[in-house]
Amino acid sequence: MGDFKTLDDLPQDLTGQRALVRVDLNLPMKDGRATDLTRARAVAPTILELSDRGAKVLLLAHYGRPKGERHSTLSLSEIVGELERVIDKEVMFIPEVEGPVVEQSVGILSAGDIGLLENTRFWPGEEANDADFAKAIAANGDFYVNDAFSAAHRAHATTEGLAHLLPSYAGRAMQKELEALDAALGNPTPPVAAVVGGAKVSTKLAVLENLSRRVQHLIIGGGMANTFLAANGVDVGKSLCEHDLTDTARAIMDAADEAGCTIHLPYDVVVAKEFAANPSSLRTCNVHEVAAEEMILDIGPQATEALGDVLKTCATLVWNGPLGAFETPPFDEATVALAKTAAALTQDGSLVSVAGGGDTVAALAHAGVTDDVTYVSTAGGAFLEWMEGKELPGVAALSA
Ligand code: ADP
Ligand code: MG
Repeated sequence: MGDFKTLDDLPQDLTGQRALVRVDLNLPMKDGRATDLTRARAVAPTILELSDRGAKVLLLAHYGRPKGERHSTLSLSEIVGELERVIDKEVMFIPEVEGPVVEQSVGILSAGDIGLLENTRFWPGEEANDADFAKAIAANGDFYVNDAFSAAHRAHATTEGLAHLLPSYAGRAMQKELEALDAALGNPTPPVAAVVGGAKVSTKLAVLENLSRRVQHLIIGGGMANTFLAANGVDVGKSLCEHDLTDTARAIMDAADEAGCTIHLPYDVVVAKEFAANPSSLRTCNVHEVAAEEMILDIGPQATEALGDVLKTCATLVWNGPLGAFETPPFDEATVALAKTAAALTQDGSLVSVAGGGDTVAALAHAGVTDDVTYVSTAGGAFLEWMEGKELPGVAALSA
């Protein structure tokens, strides 16, 4: 991670300064109300701090996928009310992102006022990272703050282009995310354990390859463990398994071996003949005893306990992907148990634990440990690309 500036590098008094602030306000909406305010809450501290310090806060965000055209249903005017409720302040909606309407609106705003500009993706220049488009936006700002880590894997005008045109700073949410990710994988305290679970190897090949070079313990669970087991000659019955990727799985195991990374695969598993809640065919067995008509739907209790013991020897944990089909009980048991172990070790101060991924966030919430691990990233695609070891253009531009 390069060194980036934060809001601490700005003068304390920002009275009248125009801050162009990229945020993630892509709220899930239903009947005019947000069903989840996590994203708005995440960027509230940055918005409120800049406002308190006297800046005119101009928020830039995308919303949905309008593909370079105006869509009335994707206007950010839809979410102004939700944002106002979260920050408990009035927000002026500005129906453009550049040009005279923005300039006049900014003129009307007083120090500390907050304006929300229209959906940046209404303009094709956003996703094309068009230099003239970025310049036109930058004309209405004195400095740029990026608080949208979740969009940092995209080199768009408001996530990357602006950083080259104005003095640039990481917002508080971005700063927190980058510090957590750095502690987990950029510059972690060894030994480091990575848990990679989820459905398929094919969606996480790059993640597995990167981690096998960088961590001391690679714990593989979920459906993808079946592909690795199959590569080791285990008959996984009817389990979700990518048989065409067994060579790839072998190559990852060999590379890990060479890098001194221990791969942990389950030796007991929870199986059933049908995928349903609490099926009558449910049983726990050794991986070598899975019947032809059975599916592996979770890792077993012995493996889970052994993995807990691995975590006890580690200083750092990075986690993406549930260990089993956690949405359907009792196939949530291993994920919940290991999550609780990780949370307890974190609370004891012996483990730094960072997790991310859409279903992982849900699984940790289900286990009730969201607040007891060090950091949970809700950044989705950006988190995965970071797990793959890729440089994120939005982050790189802040550090340039
Ligand atoms: P994330 O969104 O956290 O990156 P993924 O999308 O890769 O995670 O994987 C989550 C999905 O994997 C969940 O829907 C879960 O039910 C599924 N899954 C986990 N283990 C198994 C398994 N053994 N068989 C089938 N599906 C599984
Ligand atoms: Mg998912």
